[in-house]
Amino acid sequence: MLKSLLIANRGEIACRIIRTARELGVRTIAVYSDADSKALHVREADEAVHIGPSPARESYLVGEKIIAAAKATRAEAIHPGYGFLSENADFAQAVIDAGLIWVGPKPDSIRAMGLKDAAKARMIAAGVPVTPGYLGEDQSPERLQAEADAIGYPVLIKAVAGGGGKGMRLVEAAADFRDALASCKREAASSFGDDRVLLEKYILSPRHIEVQVFGDSHGNVVHLFERDCSLQRRHQKVIEEAPAPGMTEFTRAAVCSAAVRAAKAVDYVGAGTIEFIADGSGHLHPDRIWFMEMNTRLQVEHPVTEAITGVDLVEWQLRIASGEPLPLHQHELSINGHAMEARLYAEDPATGFLPSIGPLTEFDLNDGLIRVDTGVEEGDEVTPFYDPMIAKLIAHSRDREGAIEFLSTALCSSSVWPVRTNGAFLFRALADPDFVSGKLDTGLIARKGDAWLPPRLPSEEVLRGAAGRLIEDEPGVAPRLAGFRLNAPQRLQTVLDVHGTRVPVDFAAPAENWYMRHFDNRVMITESGQTFAIRLARFDGAAGAAAGDGALLAPMPGRVTSVEVAAGDTVAKGQRLVTLEAMKMEHGLTAPFDGIVAELNVTQGSQVSEGTLLVKVEKAEG
Ligand code: ADP
Ligand code: ADP
Ligand code: MG
Repeated sequence: MLKSLLIANRGEIACRIIRTARELGVRTIAVYSDADSKALHVREADEAVHIGPSPARESYLVGEKIIAAAKATRAEAIHPGYGFLSENADFAQAVIDAGLIWVGPKPDSIRAMGLKDAAKARMIAAGVPVTPGYLGEDQSPERLQAEADAIGYPVLIKAVAGGGGKGMRLVEAAADFRDALASCKREAASSFGDDRVLLEKYILSPRHIEVQVFGDSHGNVVHLFERDCSLQRRHQKVIEEAPAPGMTEFTRAAVCSAAVRAAKAVDYVGAGTIEFIADGSGHLHPDRIWFMEMNTRLQVEHPVTEAITGVDLVEWQLRIASGEPLPLHQHELSINGHAMEARLYAEDPATGFLPSIGPLTEFDLNDGLIRVDTGVEEGDEVTPFYDPMIAKLIAHSRDREGAIEFLSTALCSSSVWPVRTNGAFLFRALADPDFVSGKLDTGLIARKGDAWLPPRLPSEEVLRGAAGRLIEDEPGVAPRLAGFRLNAPQRLQTVLDVHGTRVPVDFAAPAENWYMRHFDNRVMITESGQTFAIRLARFDGAAGAAAGDGALLAPMPGRVTSVEVAAGDTVAKGQRLVTLEAMKMEHGLTAPFDGIVAELNVTQGSQVSEGTLLVKVEKAEG
């Protein structure tokens, strides 16, 4: 076993790797940017090396700095985690050339699978079924449009270098193709430094099924069964599980052996995932499952596989990197129960899932029933620089219903404040009848989205209970008596302030399944995974901010990636004016009504802070 390991990553995955390394007696070295100087992975590692400014481009993505840090601390090996440099073959080669052990596959295997077009070509040669599409070198918009027309709509445009659900556009009709292509190429260039795309037939009712594979340096490859990652928002996984609902032994055998063939075709060593897209309109069948891509690294959702197989995948990675053979043969691996993971993102469902940043004044995840993998603790800060995923909640039970129940219970009693999360959204997803019955496909969130949006206010019962307790706590405040109608029961009424909204409440017996606590000078209530700050309303006469005045402010710090209008332009309601990129996502700001661009304060490339006035639209006169 190697003796020391540098982890070239941050957040939950860095903490996850440190945990196993420590159990194996391996010395751990963290790297960190300015924004992460006090981050959890830095606190948990044996040593830590500063590698530069906050933007990943200047720190976590700079291979030379990471290799220099490994040299300076006499680390023996580098584990890249996922994201960042994990699928960068040149970096893997540089690590090896520097005399260090690379915890991952050979650079040639990464290269073979790195670009989606080359990978698909390779798989076709290995006899693995792939989704039909266009993989050609001719990238002219005319040719791409013609190919898309030939494939037939809907068509998916994918950045060949894409990942993490970025750089992908679904095109429903020929007329939308050019715009989607331009936007896809822009995002691809800015996120991956490569704007080439491929085209794929869009599979209707698609299910995302992937297989965990593992190879050692002695030529052995095994699989650790499948995961279902069909619950996605904008191609980004939200809830993952293993095994896949509705999977039969027959189909499992076919898809898992195709995955092993795919891994062997690129001489694979270490942990990898073969992603397939399945036609979910009927039962899962080998004839309706196609190779999509390979991720040549540990996957975000690897814990569900760990739960059902009892294998520590990071331990296997470190053993294999040390030259050991695979710890288990294929026949020694089996599935035990059902596991489910929910990704907790620092984002606000109420604002269209915009990233939410700031201090984690309260961060309390109920980890009694489940495993929690996180990179933050109470008192830490969510910064705008990196991926908004702040924790993974992983439940394991005898069956799927049990896993859902554990996960819902844990979510329900988790509270995070004032950073907003998708916790209540996840809670509602887990309660949805289609989800519960395993009727999954990648479009489910888009179809249900609005129904799963958490309410803006707590439920009436919870407000009543909270009001009752607040009044008890504050004896100076006299409740008003309401309901003086004849024969009507008398009601005690007060007014609560919930995030600036005044809500009259009758207060009565407290409801169940919620809790309330005092925090600093605030009172917090948590219901179904959503946390609110409340207080008794004081009638100070302050008016709400004037809305609808056409001033478009930056909803978060970020970089302007394009400006679509000029000052003085006439614009139509809904027309895109400016595109902002933050936390790796593009956000389009659109005209709130028909009018004229009265002010334009940014140009392409501008860095803006939260609340900056970007554009002001004025109603057209007359
Ligand atoms: P990434 O590298 O960003 O993970 P993938 O190629 O794995 O990109 O695709 C991400 C997701 O997009 C998939 O999980 C699936 O939901 C959807 N998707 C990809 N290809 C197709 C397709 N041909 N038809 C339908 N959905 C697709
Ligand atoms: P999966 O591993 O399941 O394919 P995704 O593709 O959704 O998961 O997410 C992996 C991608 O997400 C990475 O390629 C990376 O761009 C990004 N990512 C997510 N979380 C982090 C993180 N903590 N640090 C760096 N990158 C991250
Ligand atoms: Mg993928």
